[in-house]
Amino acid sequence: MLKTYQKMVILGLSLLLAWAGWKGLNALFYRGSAACLNQSVEGTRMKKINKSLEDWKKELSPEQFRVLFQKGTEPAFTGQYNDFWEEGIYLCAACGTPLFRSEDKYDHRTGWPSFKESFAETNLEYHDDLALGMHRIEVRCAICGGHLGHLFYDGPAPSGKHFCINSAAMKFLPVSQAENQLPRVATFAAGCFWGVEYKFSQIEGVLETVVGYSGGKTPNPTYRQVLTGKTGHAEAVQLVYDPKIISYEQLVRKFFELHDPTQYHRQGPDVGPNYRSAIFYHDQEQKIIAEKVKSELQVSGRFQKKIVTEIAPFKSFYRAEEYHQKYYQKKLGPACPTG
Ligand SMILES: [Zn+2]
Repeated sequence: MLKTYQKMVILGLSLLLAWAGWKGLNALFYRGSAACLNQSVEGTRMKKINKSLEDWKKELSPEQFRVLFQKGTEPAFTGQYNDFWEEGIYLCAACGTPLFRSEDKYDHRTGWPSFKESFAETNLEYHDDLALGMHRIEVRCAICGGHLGHLFYDGPAPSGKHFCINSAAMKFLPVSQAENQLPRVATFAAGCFWGVEYKFSQIEGVLETVVGYSGGKTPNPTYRQVLTGKTGHAEAVQLVYDPKIISYEQLVRKFFELHDPTQYHRQGPDVGPNYRSAIFYHDQEQKIIAEKVKSELQVSGRFQKKIVTEIAPFKSFYRAEEYHQKYYQKKLGPACPTG
């Protein structure tokens, strides 16, 4: 017969093993941590809405309030957007922030609306959720703090993301009404893209930034090829911005502030056509604005020398290698797994 203390030791060891196994399983299925997911957009979020729970309770239906502000979950297969496939965008039911696009919605057969990408990472906030005895990543609206659902990594390639979201936390805006809500794209080159991306990412209204190569001819260039200066590409930053918060003209002015547009084919110590100053316009309106701001600045006397910024039509943008993306945020923040 085992003595009591031996039984206790065996019980303790079994519990420890079960716990380690559970942790291991979780680690397999739930990659990433909330802190690392939040880190990529640190400093770029819009202003928060701070309303009391009492106020939200008055504005929302009981089910919306239960899900958004009491972390409720609607029963599977009951939400109005579970089997709903119209074109448009999904906004936060509480504060109206755009959260997901219909083109990213897919059927995960779990009974809740599923998305493979967010509308903009700046609009979401992630929190570690240890309820139910496992590690899940809770997804909240970054603007009002409302609970939306969870993020899993059993979704479609390449990201594998599966945003599992409550219908009650969202309201749908059909594409016909969504046009003025949609974000726009701008592409700038202003020297080494690490710092340029960081500076643009700090501007309110800039929702996403990506570094890459633009303005040249070589398809799918590598960093090394671009460094030779023979591809015609410049190190560029492509950004998605919310025109309701910042205009293209304001962005162009910021662009001229964050580098020296009088240096020809160089920026400080970085020399070569790949470090040139350029605005790649996406439509005629952007072209007119870019030229207007450039000539205004030239006659303003703010720059002693001639502004050499190239203003050219946007043709292509090739995303740079992953280790160049959000380079400074990765360097400055806590170490997070890349890729
Ligand atoms: Zn919200």
